[in-house]
Amino acid sequence: MNSSLPYGLTRKDLLRLGASAGLAAIVPAAAGAALPKEAMQAPSFYRFDVGQIQVTMIFDGQSTRPVSSALVPNAPVERVRAALGAVQLSVDTFKAPYTFVAVNTGGKLGLIDTGSDSQYLAGVDAGARSLAGAGINRAAVDVVVLSHFHPDHVYGLTGRDGRPLYPNAEVLMPEAELAMVRDDGMIGRLATEAFRTFATNARVKLAAYGARVRPYKNGDEVLPGVTAMSTPGHSPGHMSFLLASEGRQVLHLVDALTFPALFVRHPHWHFVLDMDGGLAEATRLRVLDQVVAEELLVMGYHFPFPAVGRIASAGEGYEFHPVDWSATL
Ligand SMILES: [Zn+2]
Repeated sequence: MNSSLPYGLTRKDLLRLGASAGLAAIVPAAAGAALPKEAMQAPSFYRFDVGQIQVTMIFDGQSTRPVSSALVPNAPVERVRAALGAVQLSVDTFKAPYTFVAVNTGGKLGLIDTGSDSQYLAGVDAGARSLAGAGINRAAVDVVVLSHFHPDHVYGLTGRDGRPLYPNAEVLMPEAELAMVRDDGMIGRLATEAFRTFATNARVKLAAYGARVRPYKNGDEVLPGVTAMSTPGHSPGHMSFLLASEGRQVLHLVDALTFPALFVRHPHWHFVLDMDGGLAEATRLRVLDQVVAEELLVMGYHFPFPAVGRIASAGEGYEFHPVDWSATL
């Protein structure tokens, strides 16, 4: 039995070593030399393959807001708190994660959305670190595909100095929203001052790319193997994306479905930033039907990191099941 111990040690040797050296040999006596505690996670990214396409989820950070009646305008705040409590989330503080996506098709390197490059909400400031951690050089990005004009998705097109952060990329923007952000009249008709500001800022960010900005529409192949799918309501021209290669598929829902504990579980609830609540709800029910029927793998911009998983029917709503973290692709 003793012969199974490593390095030719016998069990008796180990006991003797332990008795004479004691713990002091293992734990230094100078316990005051403690490592300072960290405030941040390591740069966060998560890769998986869809046939020939390699997807890298790029974590952009997390915002925090109090749970209030504003969060879900068409449900009592007590029910919202109960839904969060039902999955052991805080019922007082709502943490929203943000994750954009790099798509390497072999021939092209694309991004779907850019994050906000620390220019929107406190805590949403991890994108640059996560990109660097994943070994993705911004200058190597060929195409940036924007899902919609909201700031958490587009502010990272440029730095605070207004210069493009993706100097060699062309930028694809949903046709309806490109027209909107370039039209003062349409911006003026948006419902709130916040949305008007978002649209004006999106126009400025896009203008930095000059003639390299192009519109796209439902059904367009925006990158090899990546097809745009119209999912309006959260914003007027909001797009989702079906990535398909070698018989494998994943549907990136972006903001057609946000925070699973609330809007996958309760698809009739409206999120405060859904610009047309009724249309967003109809779209949500349609995509939920599709992903359950087709057993599709899904991604979501505001799903818990790494923001990839599957959805199953559960009672009167649905449930999100995150992927198992996988060490291999
Ligand atoms: Zn968003």
